[in-house]
Amino acid sequence: MVATFPKHLLDGYRGFTTQRLPTEQSRYQELSERGQSPAVMVIGCCDSRVSPEVIFDAGPGELFVMRNVANLVPVYQPDANAHGVSAALEYAVTVLKVPHIVVLGHAQCGGIRAFVDKAAPLSPSDFIGRWMAMFIKPGEVVEQRERETMQEFTVRIEKAAVFRSLENLMTFPFVRKAVESGEMQLHGAYFGVAEGSLFVLDKATKEFQSVRE
Ligand SMILES: [Zn+2]
Repeated sequence: MVATFPKHLLDGYRGFTTQRLPTEQSRYQELSERGQSPAVMVIGCCDSRVSPEVIFDAGPGELFVMRNVANLVPVYQPDANAHGVSAALEYAVTVLKVPHIVVLGHAQCGGIRAFVDKAAPLSPSDFIGRWMAMFIKPGEVVEQRERETMQEFTVRIEKAAVFRSLENLMTFPFVRKAVESGEMQLHGAYFGVAEGSLFVLDKATKEFQSVRE
């Protein structure tokens, strides 16, 4: 069984135990005894290039991370179904009481690409098709504008996914309550994979601003 476990992961773990763990051992011990109290929940994409811990240079216990295809937050649906995103959100807000939630979108998002391309595997019956369908409101039409290149359209929709998730977050009563009481703040960000650039959403102008010096 162990023989089939990816070797590069075992090598990576050895690197962790010899390099990172010695400097962070006391931190792990403390987190184990006191429990976690991360200051930030990050809602990001599954994309292997967009790891919040790497981008924000975060150590153990600092980020409560929830990743899914295209960093989407559904609307509040208190029905009998199981909702993974909502469960993580509920835990972060009502139990951990995180003071910040960051929705982290990114360039070259495969989920968004599948959505704008309307190609396989985006048939409405597939998991990804049904997942991405939640991005649009009933009756809403998302189409390429006149004189807008496919690249511009894709970036616009990648950023729109961040806006939609921030909007949907506020449909959760416990999120709304924490935001309105000033206990928690919502933020949007966008990661440019090729440059490693980070853009943060300015709520006043509704524009993403580069934070790279
Ligand atoms: Zn993505």
